[in-house]
Amino acid sequence: MTPLLRVNDVAKAFGGNQVLHGVEFDIAPGEIVGLLGPNGSGKSTLLNTITGFEAIDRGQIAFEGRRIDQMPAHRIVAAGVGRTFQLPSMPRKMSVMEVAMAASTAHHGVWGTLLGTAASRQAEAAAHAKATALLEQLLLTHVRDLPAAALSGGQKKLLGIVCALMGDPRLLMLDEPTAGVHPNLRRDIVAALQRLNAQGMTLVIVEHDMHFIREVCTRCIVLDRGRIVASCRPDELASNEHVVRAYLGSVEPK
Ligand code: ADP
Ligand code: MG
Repeated sequence: MTPLLRVNDVAKAFGGNQVLHGVEFDIAPGEIVGLLGPNGSGKSTLLNTITGFEAIDRGQIAFEGRRIDQMPAHRIVAAGVGRTFQLPSMPRKMSVMEVAMAASTAHHGVWGTLLGTAASRQAEAAAHAKATALLEQLLLTHVRDLPAAALSGGQKKLLGIVCALMGDPRLLMLDEPTAGVHPNLRRDIVAALQRLNAQGMTLVIVEHDMHFIREVCTRCIVLDRGRIVASCRPDELASNEHVVRAYLGSVEPK
């Protein structure tokens, strides 16, 4: 079976800093993969290369059997790969609803060219209905008219997920969705992600919270200084010597 995502021998350096060293892994349809590793191990950079935010120096990335590593970010979104950001920043003057709607404009680009036509009004109404449903699913209905910048950190992460979902991704990559999020909201995020997966979406989640990982992930991939050192079930992490070494090695001796 063709993997949903194939990352093959991907290398990336920033100046003299070699951040990814020939990274290789596959993601199968339906998986919920936790992407783990100490701070600075290259997790966000890996997400950035897959989603077209950083060019790669070597290797190939294919989604559903098609090369995406030379595509600009907006075409990768159109191909079916969505993402969120580790530290989402939101515009001051747009409401939560307007931000969700803007994500739709970015993904489909239809309003600009068809402005004022019946087709554009139809597209806008469809986007509005979709944004309404997604804000409801991600528990943001009660804040939909507030400025997006006024949301809590956790709510901004939820809005980031809404924006990614406006593009109908088949693969959704989340960069630390629960870091700094209140435990109550964390439970809601877990439930929302599990619901999306049950509806057929494949997820790759950068996460540190072991409770979350055990509850949500079907498999874990562990990065250490730009190399994948383990691919295992969440319950195998603690007994994997490469994983233990990765995390102990990141602790500076005093
Ligand atoms: P993680 O997400 O695992 O904490 P990152 O991918 O953010 O790690 O960072 C890995 C390394 O790459 C760090 O040394 C970081 O300083 C470096 N890095 C990341 N992005 C850039 C960039 N745009 N320019 C220069 N260095 C970067
Ligand atoms: Mg990161």
